[in-house]
Amino acid sequence: MKQPIYLDHQATTPVDPRVLEAMLPWFSEHFGNAASRNHAFGWRAEEGVEQARDRIARCFGALAREIVFTSGATESNNLALKGLARLFRDKKNQIVTVATEHPCVLDSCKALEREGVEVTYLPVDSTGQVDPDRISAAISDQTFLVSVMAANNEIGVLQPIEAIGALCRQRKVLFHTDAAQGFGKIPIDVDRACIDLMSLSAHKIYGPKGVGALYLRSGRPRVRLVPQIDGGGHERGLRSGTLNVPGIIGFARAAELCIAEMEEESNRLLALRERLWTGLEEGIGGIGLNGHRQQRLAGNLNVSFEGVDADALIPAMADLAVSSGSACASASLEPSHVLQAIGLSPELSRGSIRFGLGRFTTEAEVDHAISVVCETVKRLRLPGDGRHQYNA
Ligand SMILES: *Cc1c(COP(=O)(O)O)cnc(C)c1O
Repeated sequence: MKQPIYLDHQATTPVDPRVLEAMLPWFSEHFGNAASRNHAFGWRAEEGVEQARDRIARCFGALAREIVFTSGATESNNLALKGLARLFRDKKNQIVTVATEHPCVLDSCKALEREGVEVTYLPVDSTGQVDPDRISAAISDQTFLVSVMAANNEIGVLQPIEAIGALCRQRKVLFHTDAAQGFGKIPIDVDRACIDLMSLSAHKIYGPKGVGALYLRSGRPRVRLVPQIDGGGHERGLRSGTLNVPGIIGFARAAELCIAEMEEESNRLLALRERLWTGLEEGIGGIGLNGHRQQRLAGNLNVSFEGVDADALIPAMADLAVSSGSACASASLEPSHVLQAIGLSPELSRGSIRFGLGRFTTEAEVDHAISVVCETVKRLRLPGDGRHQYNA
């Protein structure tokens, strides 16, 4: 069977062949444990890891010693939020975050609430952006952390992280950003945006799954936290566990490629996204754009289709690999918390599809997607409700 066209790049990305090539020698040739101090196998692995650490840090204006390798952004977000909450226990107890964060941030916050931490979940406007003034108003003398994502995984909206970082710095509150979607796609500099902690994931930037990082500012202010995984004391005691050496090497290559090709690639994706949107608009009426028109990831288009259910639409388009809401929460039948937060009706939320374009998406694929979507939506809309049509 022919593979469907992959339009789900916010869920994950394929490993770029250049990344795979960089990783290969680190599986069977340089296979050492980076923590082995007594022989050349360990030294070689450690050298590779330390070079990768430096190369990743340079991508966002950080220092190598400010990077803690993890298994991905879920772990980084857990470490940032829980690690800080446990450090500040008995001193300060409020976190300010946003209703549209990734489930791993929101669920970490819920777990902390059960331990007595107060969490403020701020609303967003109809484009999905949070107002920095609301953050400012929510900060109290109990606040130790503001956590706001750089770019949303469902609707692609970019948050004003530079304004948020500046106000956090001024109010002497730590600022964490989940940059799993933003990093590598929009320019991020930890000094310019006053970021104190930042979560990253390699598999969202054409690197391998199962590896990521947490950036921790090392000075002014120096960020400390309580480790959440104890053991051999790897990563300066902040995250024990044998390092994923091939993964880390791939992560570094993936990050560098994104930075080097960012401008050209985002222009290319922008043109493809416009082509997709225009094609849908011209092909069928009754569609709406979810999220911000300009302030969004170049490769993201989240569209609501009036009178159609995504649960009927997606299986009817076997040629396309797209998603309704986020892959992380798609096991649940609840309408997406992000679409709810931007004020979309439950009906339109259920009729929404996320198109995630990426590095290997071609114009021909977009054109094929347009015709498949238009044809299927038209068919499901007639007569009346698509779900009835489906039973016919
Ligand atoms: C994918 C994603 C995560 C989770 O990252 P993993 O590396 O898969 O654990 C967290 N936040 C956002 C915004 C994401 O898109």
